[in-house]
Amino acid sequence: MRLRYWTALASIVSVGTILTVREVRQAQTLVAPMGAPFAGLQDMDTPVETDAKDQEQARSREVTFGEGARGPQPLDGEFVTWSRVVSPGESLDVLLAKAGLDIATRAVVSNAIGSEFDLRKLKPGHRLDLELQQDGLPRLATLEVDSGVNIQAVFGEPTSVTVLPPELETMRQAAETEIETSIYAALDKANIPTRFATDLELVFAGTLDLQRELVGGEHLRVVWRENRLDDRVIGEPMIDFVELDLGEAKYEVVWPGDASRQTHVLKDGRPLFTFVQPIKGARLSSAFGLRQHPVHGNVRMHQGVDFAAEEGATVYATQSGRVSFIGRRSGYGLMIEIEHAQDIRTVYAHLSAVNEPLEVDQRIPAGHEIGHVGSTGTSTGPHLHYDVVIEDLPVPPLTDTRLSRSGDGTQRHMDVSVMIEAARDQLASLLAANG
Ligand SMILES: [Zn+2]
Repeated sequence: MRLRYWTALASIVSVGTILTVREVRQAQTLVAPMGAPFAGLQDMDTPVETDAKDQEQARSREVTFGEGARGPQPLDGEFVTWSRVVSPGESLDVLLAKAGLDIATRAVVSNAIGSEFDLRKLKPGHRLDLELQQDGLPRLATLEVDSGVNIQAVFGEPTSVTVLPPELETMRQAAETEIETSIYAALDKANIPTRFATDLELVFAGTLDLQRELVGGEHLRVVWRENRLDDRVIGEPMIDFVELDLGEAKYEVVWPGDASRQTHVLKDGRPLFTFVQPIKGARLSSAFGLRQHPVHGNVRMHQGVDFAAEEGATVYATQSGRVSFIGRRSGYGLMIEIEHAQDIRTVYAHLSAVNEPLEVDQRIPAGHEIGHVGSTGTSTGPHLHYDVVIEDLPVPPLTDTRLSRSGDGTQRHMDVSVMIEAARDQLASLLAANG
């Protein structure tokens, strides 16, 4: 009976993407008879099994909280809520005491939260939300710490503690600037993130030499997105769309959003090339061509492109083909090679893992999940090295269109015009909103 009760509690679903879940074996402590707050449990015949909808209504109730402590606010549901922002000098135990919890219950809550968060790092501005049953027992404790990360403990058997990522708001921004000396300076002048200078250089590598071919007077318009939490920018801003007007020619670039893997480059309104990325939303971090080697230090030919990505990020086949190699090759570490039509091969290197059950000679469609980003071989950190090799010669993966033309057509007939129209409209409306 007690088991059913706690199982019902444990089934309360946490919202958001779960980063880590850890089960905390304090359940025995919780249900052990240890004084008044727990006594009621033992006679409880009817489990608190409100249906999911009721729970949702209860959970979504707005709780306002001010400077001082508030007493528990009874709701017409099964539990009361209590919230408080941490003040200077307050420990979690002090907060829990203010919520009316006895010493044993406070220890249970502190142990649960403390299993995922170093309680010595609790500081003013963090926030504690409790959901208490009417007998005073907690069923849910949520501690909001830095950058909107929530540590959430659901008490039951077993008690589970979850680290929830912040609920970020994605904001789109646009700005325009005129190039005088360099792209970098032009971005800086218009308060556009200057890191985009690198994104532009990489995407135009092989098409336009931004260092030499810009003479001044060119116009640059940029749309980008940033994730915000209460007016703070969290993480790196990402470029969405760029219009580079040279006077005699106009270039447009649409970067892939998180879901798409395609970068479209247009010149004077006509598609110049579309580059299919082997990973979602990731940024190019190194271009094809001569560069100073990040490990060996000397200038060498970089025969592919690199994408900055997190360890474990999914790697996709950029075109349909036949798996021709899986394994380790010295500097490349763990790698996969796929053979496409017309003696074209693609290589995905430094992987941490190959997707099971991928096998040599297997035929795969474009977009097939083949492996995961890692840092095996000669590598300074997690990234994907991607090569396109045609007749045994490495070619620039972005601008050489033979790979995309070799496929089954699903990628090449993509309607770029719809996407570019939407990007232009967004640029215009965002710039208009700027005044
Ligand atoms: Zn590389």
